[in-house]
Amino acid sequence: MQRATDFDVVVVGGGPAGATAAAEIAAQGASVLLIDREGRIKPCGGAIPARLLADFDIPPHLLAARIASAEMVAPSGARVGMGVGNGFVGMVDRDSFDRWLRQRAIDTGARYAAATFVGASQTADGNISISFTRERMSAETVSARLVIGADGSNSAVRRVLFGKAGKPPYVFAYHEIVRSPTGTHPGFDPRRCDVYYQGRISPDFYGWVFPHGDTTSIGVGSAVKGFDFKAATKLLREAAGLDAQETIREEGAPLPLKPLKRWDNGRNALLIGDAAGVVAPSSGEGIYYAMLCGRIAARTARDLLRTGDARALAGARREFMRAHGRIFMVLGFMQGFWYRSDKRRERFVAICRDRDVQRLIWESYQTKQFVRSDPMAHVRVFFKDLGHLVRMAFQ
Ligand SMILES: Cc1cc2nc3c(=O)[nH]c(=O)nc-3n(C[C@H](O)[C@H](O)[C@H](O)COP(=O)(O)OP(=O)(O)OC[C@H]3O[C@@H](n4cnc5c(N)ncnc54)[C@H](O)[C@@H]3O)c2cc1C
Repeated sequence: MQRATDFDVVVVGGGPAGATAAAEIAAQGASVLLIDREGRIKPCGGAIPARLLADFDIPPHLLAARIASAEMVAPSGARVGMGVGNGFVGMVDRDSFDRWLRQRAIDTGARYAAATFVGASQTADGNISISFTRERMSAETVSARLVIGADGSNSAVRRVLFGKAGKPPYVFAYHEIVRSPTGTHPGFDPRRCDVYYQGRISPDFYGWVFPHGDTTSIGVGSAVKGFDFKAATKLLREAAGLDAQETIREEGAPLPLKPLKRWDNGRNALLIGDAAGVVAPSSGEGIYYAMLCGRIAARTARDLLRTGDARALAGARREFMRAHGRIFMVLGFMQGFWYRSDKRRERFVAICRDRDVQRLIWESYQTKQFVRSDPMAHVRVFFKDLGHLVRMAFQ
């Protein structure tokens, strides 16, 4: 028989996934402890889609910038501009954004500990005990019916409870935060993101320039072992005309690119967000998906707490993949195909010149749905794609 626990749920990690899960579990009336080690701003480009702002009730003051267009840069230097249309892409500063999300969880009723998770063990009655340390204090242990691991790509919860085999494949992403130019600056527009598809900048992913108001994130991703991220970022900064800007921070983190096959241990542990490998291939977008995981995890926790049936846990991955598995598969295919050589990258950027392609890209980014309003646009894109592939084969 299960005995009473200190908390219904302990959430480890107060980033977008964990803070959302904790807020929504507290809103359901369950007792929840949110643990975050704090002290490090998550390295992140901070780009978020319209759907996130609406679905998760994000106040406008958290936006450091509103991006109106993107420019794709091909290996030849050819540039393709893509206006966002009526909307905009939001840019958040992860320091204030994550703090705000954690505060919302606290205001909704979650208990909070600025502490580092150090271990977990199963108890004889089917519950789980979680140990953590606060600065300069001895370890504390609490018991819970469920632990949610939302502690990012290097998840300690995953390591402790799921073993090393659970690690998802990833690219490494590195960026430099620089002071944004003031006034007019050649090649820089504070309302435009630039995306570089050039093998010299990234042999298997892409490089980016994402303005955030006073600061700008300039970075690259790659899974190639021994890749020189700093040298690539230097090239990127030169190409963008931002090499002389003051550097404020240099940092990086793994970016998982495939959801794990299992997010739960069949008993009382669930992984979400980066810890579960949930980042979109091709784009590396993870904030929206992390927050959605947090919301789904809260529903899953409610089912588990209500019924005591641990099979409910498997529903979290199922629900997520039902909604987004297909788009992740398409994006995975695109990354594997288009990011392989400069010849393909050149073609990929050329494809983005097409109005139908641009509309499909923005609508699916902003709404997180396959666009169904204009089926003919899909057909046109399909045939144009085919034309590009055939031309590439004969070049
Ligand atoms: C360079 C870079 C650029 C990116 N750019 C974008 C972008 O522009 N747009 C986008 O959507 N996504 C982007 N991503 C991906 C995005 O940052 C992640 O997918 C997202 O942050 C995942 O959220 P999360 O809550 O799962 O994990 P995280 O944001 O990593 O949060 C994990 C939390 O757990 C805490 N934690 C870790 N270990 C412990 C521990 N042992 N004990 C207690 N707490 C712990 C950390 O303090 C942190 O707050 C980028 C990633 C990188 C690396």
